[in-house]
Amino acid sequence: MDNILDSSIQYLKGVGPRRAELLKAELGIGTVRELLEFFPFRYVDRSGITPIAQARPDLAYIQIEARVVSRALYASGGVQIIPDERKQKLNSCKRLVVTVEDGSGSMEIVFFKGIRWNYERLEPGKTFVFFGKPQLFGQRTNLVHPEVDSPGTAAAENSISGVYPSTERLRAAVTGKTMCKLMATALEAALPQIEETLPDYVMKDNGLVSLKFALRNIHFPKDQSSLEKARYRLKFEELFLLQLSLLRQKFKRSRAEKGYVFSKVGASFHSCYNSLPFSLTEAQKRVIREIRTDMSGGRQMNRLLQGDVGSGKTMVAVLSCLIAEGNGFQSCIMAPTEVLARQHYANISKYLANTGVKCALLTGSTSRKDRAEIHAGLEDGSIGIIVGTHALIEDSVKFRALGLAVIDEQHRFGVEQRSRLWAKSAIPPHVLVMTATPIPRTLAMTLYGDLDVSVIDELPPGRKPVRTMCVSEHRKNAVFDFMKKEIGKGRQAFVVYPLIFESEKSDYKNLENGYEEIVKAFPLPEYKVAIVHGRQNSEEKEFNMSAFVAGRANILVSTTVIEVGVDVPNASVMVIESAQRFGLSQLHQLRGRVGRGSDESYCILVKDDKTGKDAQERLDLMCATEDGFEIAEQDMRMRGPGDMEGTQQSGLPVNLHIASLAKDGQLLSMAREYATKVLERDPDLSLGVNRPLVLQLRREKYGIRDFSKIS
Ligand code: ADP
Ligand code: MG
Repeated sequence: MDNILDSSIQYLKGVGPRRAELLKAELGIGTVRELLEFFPFRYVDRSGITPIAQARPDLAYIQIEARVVSRALYASGGVQIIPDERKQKLNSCKRLVVTVEDGSGSMEIVFFKGIRWNYERLEPGKTFVFFGKPQLFGQRTNLVHPEVDSPGTAAAENSISGVYPSTERLRAAVTGKTMCKLMATALEAALPQIEETLPDYVMKDNGLVSLKFALRNIHFPKDQSSLEKARYRLKFEELFLLQLSLLRQKFKRSRAEKGYVFSKVGASFHSCYNSLPFSLTEAQKRVIREIRTDMSGGRQMNRLLQGDVGSGKTMVAVLSCLIAEGNGFQSCIMAPTEVLARQHYANISKYLANTGVKCALLTGSTSRKDRAEIHAGLEDGSIGIIVGTHALIEDSVKFRALGLAVIDEQHRFGVEQRSRLWAKSAIPPHVLVMTATPIPRTLAMTLYGDLDVSVIDELPPGRKPVRTMCVSEHRKNAVFDFMKKEIGKGRQAFVVYPLIFESEKSDYKNLENGYEEIVKAFPLPEYKVAIVHGRQNSEEKEFNMSAFVAGRANILVSTTVIEVGVDVPNASVMVIESAQRFGLSQLHQLRGRVGRGSDESYCILVKDDKTGKDAQERLDLMCATEDGFEIAEQDMRMRGPGDMEGTQQSGLPVNLHIASLAKDGQLLSMAREYATKVLERDPDLSLGVNRPLVLQLRREKYGIRDFSKIS
């Protein structure tokens, strides 16, 4: 027999071809299953009766049970119709006001429509249940057009009812009430055929109600506690299956991809470690332990390292490379730009000074002669660590034994480019991807659910906070004066303009005008101003950038191209123009460019006078905290995970129906832990008891794109 769940809703009583078409077009609902998986987005609770004395206009809805005391009818212009005229004039009435009381107080119920019908049934002395949104009228709270039922009738008793999302077009043909009726019809028809989707043991272990119970109560909750149980079950199932699917890929991959075994920690690691001018933070130590465990286990490491700007990721990368070196393998560190690669090279060379490990830099501008030497050094193995840009993935670059690839700022590298790195090694090298764009844990677990994630959640001690303030545009002169004071002390300043749309002319106009304004306010020869933007060719860009990095320019005017990684410890001021136009994570990245030296640093957010409420909220948050993870969490809360910056490229792997990554973080962690347990026992889900899970994972919803080749 065909399963009714997969049949079209068209054949349900009360649907028909027209409504079916609309439901499909507007909500994507085609089958009975899809209808039943379309959940209310909120509920109206009619389970209690509120005494009139407690009715306040700030309550969303109230239900009162009260006796009609009197009725008054009004014609247009507010003229009250005297009782004798009532019968004749009922049709021309504009307003009916019914006064009711329940022992705790009295209240007016107002109707502008259906006057005759309501007048006739709301007879004085009778008691009714009124349900509606309380409103303030003058000094008093009243109810306008409430639902009216007799006490004890089904509607008055049906405690909690769902409200379904809808669209304007749909509402004309399918009202909220109709939707509820359809749902009831569908449930009744389908319930006998609904099979449990989770194995018994999963339900027992997690205290879940059955799918039947959950579906019935998510649509027609018996009471608040049944609704909670239903919701919990459905959310858990959704998150559990999602994690199960991601983790299964991860388990599969880690069994399939053999990795080089780095069992030793060699001399170079120790001599670097022991000669550090500082001690590692606990977070750095923890992450290095995680990486060591990965690289010694016989499987390929695929780890994402998240750490706020300045948290010391480079150090972790270097020590990881030295572990490879201690086992006879080479490493490469790839950066997205030449400036960054050079900076990494300079820093890393310092860290390596006492180790005897040879490090080289390879970029697009490396001379032919140097290039040949480097190629030779990589092939014979005399170069232990190579730092560079995309130049590293060219085919002419060959390694004697590439054991570890470190990729800085992952989103600037395409997946394809990364996979070209793999080809340079007999079996894929271990991969460490570093990012300074903090992603909330819940999102990371979903986006990168099949990668291992390490987090450096602690900054090195002694770092001075960046003082952040928000000023209005018309106080620009004060900002310039402040910059002059800092420059007078030998510091440097960034001035950043928004360039949201690369192609937008007006954005370049802003940048150009801004540059002129700055040059006027900071004239030669006292001040030197460099400018960097996306329309320059790479030489021009490098030239300007290097002038600032080397301290030859006092001010760098730029678009957000400086967002990533650049380290100029001498820069103490970051001015962000039209700050209201930036997203939170971008503002945070930009602010991370200062505060890298030992001096007090400042971030000045210059805002437009027309800054909206949301934008102001972002700016306020920036002034309130420097914690990248907190900012990311708030960002997710404000905008929803789908719109988070830094995730657009990868996108969310699934559309969650009922669970929310922003709100159900704890449940997600639980579901993930439990999914791990299930897979540890049955990695292929081949046991009979797990058959229902396999069936669920086959559904399109969990046919998640393959993220395992992310690096
Ligand atoms: P990011 O995570 O932004 O890449 P870096 O690795 O560039 O951070 O480190 C920022 C600065 O902090 C560097 O100058 C580095 O030498 C320094 N640093 C790294 N780890 C520590 C530590 N444990 N204690 C003190 N300073 C550190
Ligand atoms: Mg860095």
